[in-house]
Amino acid sequence: ELITERIESITLPNVTDVRPLIVIDPGHGGIDPGAVGINGLQEIQVIFPISLRVTELLQQHGANVVLTRQDNRTLDLAPRVQLAERVDADMFVSIHANAISMARPDVNGVETYYYYSSGREVAEFIQDSLLQATGMRDRGVKSARFHVLVNTSMPSTLVEVGFVTGAEDAPLLSDPLF
Ligand code: ZN
Repeated sequence: ELITERIESITLPNVTDVRPLIVIDPGHGGIDPGAVGINGLQEIQVIFPISLRVTELLQQHGANVVLTRQDNRTLDLAPRVQLAERVDADMFVSIHANAISMARPDVNGVETYYYYSSGREVAEFIQDSLLQATGMRDRGVKSARFHVLVNTSMPSTLVEVGFVTGAEDAPLLSDPLF
């Protein structure tokens, strides 16, 4: 990977220079599996494969990607922000699955969050793309004071890819092909 980048930097220095660097943050891991939903579906089971697939797709499209964690390990919120700042990321995307009471299987759909206006356009783009690709319900683009959104200096978003407690979403989210 490093060798490839060096070769490309010799032949195409300008192209390499403008590659966006995107930090992908799988929202949970290690001792924190995140939310647990229908049939014991854990948030970590949903978001980690998605994070790896998103990384792969972004790399295929010419972006540089840094994951806040490459495997299922515990990671506090502050180090994620520090990593994004240290690598001087152009964009930060935290990937989560949503949950509500097990008594509310009727609640389903995708939400994308931003805090600063710099993240709003990206959040809208991600939300629209997800809705078009999946046909899931639209719960909207929202602003919230999540730690990783408030404390990052680059455009940052947090995606909730559906509800592990949702009767419609859970079967979809538990299917790796979906
Ligand atoms: Zn989460």
